Amino acid sequence: MSLTSTVRRAAQINARGPAVVDGAVRTSWSAFADRVSRVAGGLAALGLQPGERVAILAVNHASFLELQYAVLWAGGVLVPVNYRLSSNEISYIVGAASACMIVADPQFERVVRDVANNVPALRRVIWFSGPEARGDSSYDWLASQKAIEDQSEDRADDTAGIYFTGGTTGRPKGVVLSRLNFLSQAAAMQSSLELRSDSVYLHATPLFHLADCGIGHAVTFAAGAHSFLSQFEADACLRKIRQDGVTEINLVPTMLATLLDAAEGGSRDMAVALAAVRTVAYGGAPIPAPLLHRLLARLPNAKFRQFYGMTETCGACASLPPDFHVSGVDASRLRSVGQAMPFAEIRIVAPDGTERPRGEAGEVAIRGLQTMRGYWNDPGATSRALRGGWLHSGDVGVMDADGFVTIVERLKDMIISGGENIYSAEVENVIAAHPSVTACAVIGLSDQRWGERVHAVVVRRSDVESAELQRDLEARCRDLIAGYKCPKSWDIRAEPLPLSSLGKVNKAKLREEAESYAG
Ligand code: ATP
Ligand code: MG
Repeated sequence: MSLTSTVRRAAQINARGPAVVDGAVRTSWSAFADRVSRVAGGLAALGLQPGERVAILAVNHASFLELQYAVLWAGGVLVPVNYRLSSNEISYIVGAASACMIVADPQFERVVRDVANNVPALRRVIWFSGPEARGDSSYDWLASQKAIEDQSEDRADDTAGIYFTGGTTGRPKGVVLSRLNFLSQAAAMQSSLELRSDSVYLHATPLFHLADCGIGHAVTFAAGAHSFLSQFEADACLRKIRQDGVTEINLVPTMLATLLDAAEGGSRDMAVALAAVRTVAYGGAPIPAPLLHRLLARLPNAKFRQFYGMTETCGACASLPPDFHVSGVDASRLRSVGQAMPFAEIRIVAPDGTERPRGEAGEVAIRGLQTMRGYWNDPGATSRALRGGWLHSGDVGVMDADGFVTIVERLKDMIISGGENIYSAEVENVIAAHPSVTACAVIGLSDQRWGERVHAVVVRRSDVESAELQRDLEARCRDLIAGYKCPKSWDIRAEPLPLSSLGKVNKAKLREEAESYAG
């Protein structure tokens, strides 16, 4: 059983309904399924053997989605790659997965040539569009081949994909995900988002990342339609929502902030466009409380749903439904990432793996059909993460009596100063609530006396003065949090925080900068 069965089912139960919407152009589910089986035939004609890896390097478009199903149909394993990484990092990933083929957009030609030189296992380069050159193949040629029988039907436990983590805390790790991981995630996501055959989901975050890809599979599972934004940009996103009649969308907090800024800069389109969407899903990184409250105030009619998860859980493992995003509900619920998704169990554990009492902080551990098989070629990392059937997430969280989980911090971002644990997120929330602050990050810097000391990097509004803001923030912290949690040093600046290629704050870079500056 594989995701390809969901494509055939969609083509059976919604044959004439749209699989892809792009303005006035629609591709029916029956045409989509037909192309998938022919692209699979093309891959097989090029010599792809069951179990072999196919790397994908592309922005969001319908052929990317189609290719994902075609690779599985041909019995292959998907390795989608983040195109924002450097050529070196991309070569590392394609090489680590020993992919035998890469399918890419022509705009990445220079990187693909580098990868081809560096990865001996790579036998074939295929271009999504553009002219064929020097023995390469074209996607159109694949799609013009004869269909083959689905090669992925019998073994649910076989590997479907190797997805690399975001690289927020170090080098990206290859996560091995099975066909069952994907299928169970699709079913869980479809029921959470209440996706239907009349849904139109906009792929606004990158398809190479599991969050978007996971929701995409749920859309297919519901025989709904896919719409694609090649790369995120606020105005283009709002136009696409209108043009394609989008009903569901998923965004990361930094994108929501951009949309909100666009709206507050005068565009009334956002309120109109987003209010027409059935559900705005968000997650992937902590959402700053002030941003969430601004959103809810600005868009009282839009429905928000938060997802929490990771590459290792094949997407989301917890979710906070729209009912908790209205004023009047318990604020602690709104701070949480919600409750376990279908097929997932969550518990909060101490370092020795025993369960912590409700209300006490510990590492978030997850077990269930969506959890990964392990890290690719890394038994050491696998046995550290998967213990006794539980996946240890590296996130610190608290669970309340009703199973709502609040993510406090990444274990790696927790600051230990003078023997006390300090959650950077708690200090960040106090600072971020100041009206002259546009963003902030709190990190631990090594300190001879305290082990680590709290350092705050604050992005100020351009019309405020740094020294005065610092005095204000110092007083505010003294009022609201314990003395040992108050920052001992400040970097108040106008330039934005460094972000990872997926839009998460890059604390490793900030630590490096601050430590080299301090000498
Ligand atoms: P790496 O593992 O390489 O350091 P990464 O953890 O950022 O990178 P992903 O798997 O893309 O890679 O991200 C999962 C992580 O993102 C989670 O472990 C968690 O820290 C964070 N995250 C995801 N959703 C949420 C959310 N709703 N709220 C807070 N944090 C979240
Ligand atoms: Mg991670």
